[in-house]
Amino acid sequence: MREWCAPEHEPLLLAEGKGCVLRDQHGREYLDGNSSIWTNIHGHGHPVIHAAIKEQLDRVAHTSFLGFTHEPAIRLAKELVDFFPEGTLTRAFYSDDGSTAVECALRMALQFWRQNGCPERDTILAFDHAYHGDTLGAASTGGIPLFKGSGNDFGYRTLRVPDLDRLDALTRDEPRRLAAVILEPLIQGSAGMRLWPRGMLAALRQWCDRHDVLLILDEVMTGFGRTGMMFACEIEGVTPDLICLAKGLTGGLLPMAATLTTERVFEGFLGREKTFYYGHSYTASQLGCAAALASLRVFREERVLESLPGKTACFTSLLDGLRALPRVKEIRQCGMIAGIEIGPFDTALLTGAAVCLAARKHGLLTRPILDTLVLMPPLCVTSSELERMTRALKLALEEVCG
Ligand SMILES: *Cc1c(COP(=O)(O)O)cnc(C)c1O
Repeated sequence: MREWCAPEHEPLLLAEGKGCVLRDQHGREYLDGNSSIWTNIHGHGHPVIHAAIKEQLDRVAHTSFLGFTHEPAIRLAKELVDFFPEGTLTRAFYSDDGSTAVECALRMALQFWRQNGCPERDTILAFDHAYHGDTLGAASTGGIPLFKGSGNDFGYRTLRVPDLDRLDALTRDEPRRLAAVILEPLIQGSAGMRLWPRGMLAALRQWCDRHDVLLILDEVMTGFGRTGMMFACEIEGVTPDLICLAKGLTGGLLPMAATLTTERVFEGFLGREKTFYYGHSYTASQLGCAAALASLRVFREERVLESLPGKTACFTSLLDGLRALPRVKEIRQCGMIAGIEIGPFDTALLTGAAVCLAARKHGLLTRPILDTLVLMPPLCVTSSELERMTRALKLALEEVCG
């Protein structure tokens, strides 16, 4: 907070938004280059989602989900499970954000084995550089020391590996202690947009099947079209045992999350002593469900997924134009997600932050991960907006590193 509170620092107050454009307190306009921290899908102020929220607001904003239910939640659960092959993910559990969606998946996996004859399966396997959220339970699976804070292996055992090869090298007994493996499929976001090798996800699914270990996919960032498919797991034809959805679930308008799971896991919680004691006050907020249903409607009505191959190709060619710039080390892209790594710099110099600050003057808002610049526009982005975003980054890179 020292820099934030310094007299020369001018806080940016974002006041309005329309499509990919945000406006500050002085009326200056910026392109939302990271979808308001990876949440926004169809742009700001989308009329269909706004109308759905207003309509819901006039009925009721929120009612308890403890012991009750409501139509928007029922319809949303049905629409979410219908994205997956029949008889795979069939059940939805609501919570509030990405961290609680992960929290819930971890606790389900651990409790599932404890009360169904395998109490020795008490460990969660996670990958180096992983990020699964900031609550203690989710942070315990994180593999980025910077983001772990005090959340260091809280309350359950974790085992961390760098990659699939290390999984195959586990001793014979180690897999028998695993309740679940958790992974960000295809791309690790907070690690700086690190791509997994092609085929890794499908191979991991096979490994989990071989050892009867539950596979949790954290699609909090990758879900809802970012990678080119509705969910990243579809790209390798994989269905997990649990999937965590949040950020883009409501189109990025309201906080809301869902953890989907299989009939097998669901049935493991039937019975008096088997209750899943987990829930939050705002679970299945009616407004959030209405927004999520409207966002899915926009996907259908505007044929959003169909528009992505063209947009992604345009994004790729614009990113290619950045490759030759001074100090651009590597560009990593997965669908409409890109990480532009610059350097080598001493990370303490915060060069990535300096580039993003310079880009602000050229009308682009985004946030780096150390020295990786992130571009992840809302999916409604036009080719001219993509062009303006990459041009702003180019000018900023030349100013700071040139
Ligand atoms: C952002 C993120 C989370 C945490 O979500 P919050 O809504 O910020 O709690 C978890 N996993 C991944 C992959 C994320 O990108």
